Amino acid sequence: MPFRRTGSNGIEYSAITRMQSQNHMPDRKRHQTVPVQVDHVTIGGDAPIVVQSMTNTDTARCESTVQQVAKLARAGSELVRITVNNAEAASQVAGIRKQLDRMGIGTPLVGDFHFNGHKLLTDYPGCAAALAKYRINPGNVGRGHKGDEQFAAMIGIARKHGKPVRIGVNWGSLDQRMLTRLMDENARLPDPRQPREVMHEALIRSALESAAHAEQLGLPHDRIVISCKMSGVQDLITVYRELANRCDYPLHLGLTEAGMGSKGIVASSAALAILLQEGIGDTIRISLTPEPGGCRTREVTVAQEILQSLELRAFTPMVVACPGCGRTASTFFQQLAGDIQQHIREQMPVWRNRYPGVEKMNVAVMGCVVNGPGESKHADIGISLPGTGETPVAPVYVDGEKTVTLKGDSIAAEFQQLVDRYVASRYGSKQR
Ligand code: SF4
Repeated sequence: MPFRRTGSNGIEYSAITRMQSQNHMPDRKRHQTVPVQVDHVTIGGDAPIVVQSMTNTDTARCESTVQQVAKLARAGSELVRITVNNAEAASQVAGIRKQLDRMGIGTPLVGDFHFNGHKLLTDYPGCAAALAKYRINPGNVGRGHKGDEQFAAMIGIARKHGKPVRIGVNWGSLDQRMLTRLMDENARLPDPRQPREVMHEALIRSALESAAHAEQLGLPHDRIVISCKMSGVQDLITVYRELANRCDYPLHLGLTEAGMGSKGIVASSAALAILLQEGIGDTIRISLTPEPGGCRTREVTVAQEILQSLELRAFTPMVVACPGCGRTASTFFQQLAGDIQQHIREQMPVWRNRYPGVEKMNVAVMGCVVNGPGESKHADIGISLPGTGETPVAPVYVDGEKTVTLKGDSIAAEFQQLVDRYVASRYGSKQR
């Protein structure tokens, strides 16, 4: 599926939306799925695994939502989901889209609907048209016959506007009819399965039966993405392996309610790494709870780092730094590693376009002579700082060769300049 640089509104977007085609590293064996087009972003098939995120602003507040979507997009989110939970929110969606377009931010918006999605999409056709995809939770569309009608209404609107949907099951809001039916069936078995296994099956069936129902209602097969989110790592792995066995819909991967700080990052990384390594997953979102005052873009950075660590995509040069130990008493090298990482992140919006391939660069910042020279030689550019009791000099290695030795108070500034020069000379000739 060719990547198109022009959005459905005819606007050719900037580097932010070009990212998906540029930094795709060769995939290992990948579970084959049908590509689904979400405006100019492709999910599934052979397309690079898409990074997505979600705002936590009140969508009814247009300006703050626009600003947060822009931030997430600039951080590298290739799709951004927004809550559409009431009339005030739905009435703002078209305006949010327009304002983002005026800013040159073409990142497709996904609408997150529960309970009243059918009504909001019907009452606000501008909202239905402006969104690039609708997320429908089969457990939250309504009960019984009414729920079926409301689901059908949302699918009808998706068909009318030519939009894909995500059938997004969440075990916190699992379709209770489905669960009861499967529990009853299980109880009649001569050798009943464990309740946890029945719960897994209920999640999978809820997603797949809803997807099949959407197709019966006329939604094309290649307009459906599936997710079954849970908060348990082992549960998520089990369910997604089974989903991959049973369908070729693209799979949206993510641990729901992952949590705060390192707990959320570790749990998400553990679950997603295993599945991604097995070729399962076409788009990922890391559901981190931000620290008070923390930045929402953290979830985008973590998603990118998971994909880059697995060598599935490259987004930004990697800084390899040793953990430090008793051989380096000062925090100088920690500071330098942090400053270099920060400098690279700040430069990337420019470097990404000017220096193709720079996202695959490796930089080493090492604390002493034990592993410093060796690790630095393996990096594209690396510095080995002096440990305790060592001569206060810092050899720099470029492409495996020692090129210069820095000393004095300006080691950090000089190394940063050397990194900038290296980037320009190594990647500068490959203008896009
Ligand atoms: S490179 Fe040196 S300072 Fe860094 S962890 Fe290894 S021994 Fe310690």
